[in-house]
Amino acid sequence: MQFFKSILNIFKYNFNLDYKAIELDQLLAAGEKLPVIIFMNMFIGTISIIMIWSSVPYRFLFGWVVLLILSLLLRFLLYLTYKKSSIETIGQWNIYFLATSFFSGITWGLIGLIIEIYLAEAHQGFEVFILGAMAVGSIVTATFIRWNYLAFMIPMLLFPTVYYFLQSDPYHHFMGVMILFFMLVLSVSSINFRNIQAEKLISFKHLSNSKQRLKDITSSMGEGIFVIDKEGNLEFMNAEAEHILGWSFEEAKNTNLHNLIHIHLDEDASECIVKKAYQEGEKNHSEDDFFQRKNGEIFPVSITAAPINVNHDTSGAVVIFRDITERKALEKQLSDLALHDKLTGLYNRGSFDEKLDYELSRAHRYHRNLSLLMFDIDFFKKVNDTYGHQAGDDVLKEIAHIIKRSVRGSDYAARFGGEEFMVILPETESTKAFELAERIRKTLEAEPIQIAENETIHVTTSIGVATSTKGITAKKLMLSVDRALYKAKNSGRNRVCM
Ligand code: GH3
Ligand code: MG
Ligand code: MG
Repeated sequence: MQFFKSILNIFKYNFNLDYKAIELDQLLAAGEKLPVIIFMNMFIGTISIIMIWSSVPYRFLFGWVVLLILSLLLRFLLYLTYKKSSIETIGQWNIYFLATSFFSGITWGLIGLIIEIYLAEAHQGFEVFILGAMAVGSIVTATFIRWNYLAFMIPMLLFPTVYYFLQSDPYHHFMGVMILFFMLVLSVSSINFRNIQAEKLISFKHLSNSKQRLKDITSSMGEGIFVIDKEGNLEFMNAEAEHILGWSFEEAKNTNLHNLIHIHLDEDASECIVKKAYQEGEKNHSEDDFFQRKNGEIFPVSITAAPINVNHDTSGAVVIFRDITERKALEKQLSDLALHDKLTGLYNRGSFDEKLDYELSRAHRYHRNLSLLMFDIDFFKKVNDTYGHQAGDDVLKEIAHIIKRSVRGSDYAARFGGEEFMVILPETESTKAFELAERIRKTLEAEPIQIAENETIHVTTSIGVATSTKGITAKKLMLSVDRALYKAKNSGRNRVCM
């Protein structure tokens, strides 16, 4: 039953499978196989010659050897043209391939005939012929090239079969039927084999096509995606991930890509959300992670890492990430804008208030003192009135600059109002604060400030100093520093008061 189904398959195979899709691959495969085919022809040819040597008249023997050499030569030339042909000319090459198969079929058919006519032990000869033809034929037909099988088999069968049927005895007729039947079986199995191979090939092509398609689809979303197995080895990577990371899939596959790229700047690496996904089956999202490109550059990423679960078991993880360098820069710009004063670049009043609350509560908790400096420029209205508002702005910027460079990194300088500045000095006693204020006052007094190309002026400032006491509120501390400043103003300006 199976056998008849298989025979039916012969007629089906051209319609069921898209042979066109795989033909090119198969042409290439056939070209690569040519040296093996030539070798097999030589090998079986030599055995055949030895076999018929003593039984066949020399002119036939000689004639057949010439034919064999010619067919080998043709195959060799075919191989040379294959090496030279390109994808565009391979269609033409296919025709040459069929032609040489046909010629080879004639060559092997003739030796079958010679064996039948001249060899006394016809059975042995027949056997050798079948074996030889099968070997040569199956290699040739193992290729997918359409019609190649027939191009070889028909001429090969023609001579011995016609000879058998021309004989008058039933024994030869039986042999003729046998050889046809034998070739039919051979054809069926070779075509079945071909169908199985073709299905495999097509599904493989399908798979690689769909992998490529997946790659294209996922890349058009603008997010890098990679898939790792439960050891962390790379299994899939889309084009965007390749683009962002600078690693190609080919370079990185089967390596632990995650270890190469995921940088843990300050947090503990055991908290890694990617590891949690592929080791513990946990899904997580982060906006504060860093990856490293192949060229060593570290950049901020947002990551979603999700486990891939197969039958309740984590078999790996998919990681979706985005390069957020631009967004982080923008966020920083925005937060700088919100926290800083535009003119001087110092902190603004809003962030000063917050910082003061924070530092004061710390000071209380650790029983340390905190000091505050409050600056108000002396007769600043006069600067504006005399030199203009722009010059006034330049003076404010310069004073801010002087204050900033006079304090420690842990101190917090802010522009509090129009021409008023504040400095929070954490962990600073009143004497130290007073000394600092005095130093800044003197610097300002001494340093000329450029307001135009050839014009400089001297500006002075009055400074109030206040130091926190146990449990004091921010409001009370501000009141006390304000009072100190008032005192400095009232007692003649350009001075520091506590
Ligand atoms: P005093 O010694 O009493 O402090 O005298 P003063 O002239 O400095 O008086 P006051 O502190 O009241 O003057 C504040 C002036 O600062 C008023 C305003 O024109 C000026 N001012 C405030 N903000 C700015 C600013 O952003 N740019 C400029 N150029 N001037 C400003
Ligand atoms: Mg003022
Ligand atoms: Mg003033």
